Amino acid sequence: MIILGLFGVLVLNTFRSQSKQLSGVKKAGEIIISDSVITHLSDVIKLRTVSNSDPTMIDSAQFQKFTDYVAQAFPLVQNRLEMENVNTYALFYEWKGKNPSLKPVLLMGHFDVVPVIQGTERLWEHKPFDGEIANGFVYGRGTLDDKTTVIGVLEAVEYLLKEGFQPERTFYLAFGHDEEVLGKYGAKEIASILAKRKVELEYVLDEGGMIKQDGIEGLKKPIAMVGVAEKGYVTLQLTATGEGGHSSMPPPQTSIGDLAEAIDRLQKHPFPYRLEGAAAYMLDYLGPEMPFANKMAMANRWLMKPVIISSLSKSNSGSAMLHTTTAPTILDAGLKENVLPIDATAKINFRILPGDSVAGVIKYVKKVIKNDSIKVDIVGESGTDPSFISDTTSLGFRMIHTTIKSCFPDVLVAPYLVVGATDSRHFKNLSCNIYRFMPVRFTDEDIKRFHGTNERISIEDFKNVVRFYMELISRG
Ligand SMILES: [Zn+2]
Repeated sequence: MIILGLFGVLVLNTFRSQSKQLSGVKKAGEIIISDSVITHLSDVIKLRTVSNSDPTMIDSAQFQKFTDYVAQAFPLVQNRLEMENVNTYALFYEWKGKNPSLKPVLLMGHFDVVPVIQGTERLWEHKPFDGEIANGFVYGRGTLDDKTTVIGVLEAVEYLLKEGFQPERTFYLAFGHDEEVLGKYGAKEIASILAKRKVELEYVLDEGGMIKQDGIEGLKKPIAMVGVAEKGYVTLQLTATGEGGHSSMPPPQTSIGDLAEAIDRLQKHPFPYRLEGAAAYMLDYLGPEMPFANKMAMANRWLMKPVIISSLSKSNSGSAMLHTTTAPTILDAGLKENVLPIDATAKINFRILPGDSVAGVIKYVKKVIKNDSIKVDIVGESGTDPSFISDTTSLGFRMIHTTIKSCFPDVLVAPYLVVGATDSRHFKNLSCNIYRFMPVRFTDEDIKRFHGTNERISIEDFKNVVRFYMELISRG
């Protein structure tokens, strides 16, 4: 009887779980997007705007060429919008809306790129900085991350200006030149300009999510993952110190042994899994779209949580959504094979789940390694705490959701936790609605091209990016 009752509850909950997908959204009208958008993208890929945390290693002429190119290729944007160069290279525009009582929107991206790892150039089918167009793709560093967003937004605005369009609300466009090295001079500075002007933003849209073309386990439909939160970041250095001396008379454990033991303990005691926040929102959106058995599990999380966590955590990407991750990345110890080491150090990178904090990570690490003689220090200035979780009932989320449905009718929309870091974190005091999404279709195979080899975007996908921003802006 009890079993039957339980089954009844499970089934009832399953039927109660309603789709959260917006329905009845009109398909975006057909617009011929000129091939000049592809030429523009290919041209800017040729500019080697490579970031470096050492400012003396930056080829500033390339950044200058980029801003000059934008001014010349987008004449209406240049002449009709108010433009400021922030810290010389970052581009910041204001497109005044008709209705000053509406809160403005900020569309953002970055045009610096990561370097190509030396020795891997030969693995590229088309050279990383030639902007070659081949087999329906534009190849090169920045075609995904993130010149696509910058040029895509500019193309959309230029097109709408040509049509004589003026948005209801003001749009700001912010394109940083140092996102890959933390965005201190680009996005951070633009955020402080807006803060000084006491601007409150309706919503912010940055890179971060994408359309996962091959779906997820149990749901093989394309899914537009819209980042509603992002993880924090901290690297800790662990230092074990020994007395040194000749290796013929060693103590029972050297500093290397102490350090190895600490790392081993950290790997064996990962941060606990938690199915909550952005990851839980994602399941709220995807559960109702799944086949009955999966849908039943998602609708009855009060009972099925451990099963869902165990299934999601099987993949590294799923596991990253559920806890603060621990990744030992650099080891340094010992000078000579017959000399006992003094300092042995390890750098360990943590990506912090919303709800945890930099301070919490340090506390946890000290508790797990159980060795007071090992020093624990933050690497760099400080870590970054995770973001807050943006609302999925806001106007901004609804606009993005509607625009996705109108441009990509076959796609499901879901909130998502961005496991990397984006420049949008600098805007946390200017809006409580920060979203991270790039309207490009990716397979698992394509994701490796990010910061990797053979980065590319198809001509069709890039035209869809332009189309998406046109649609989003014209919805106001
Ligand atoms: Zn990026």
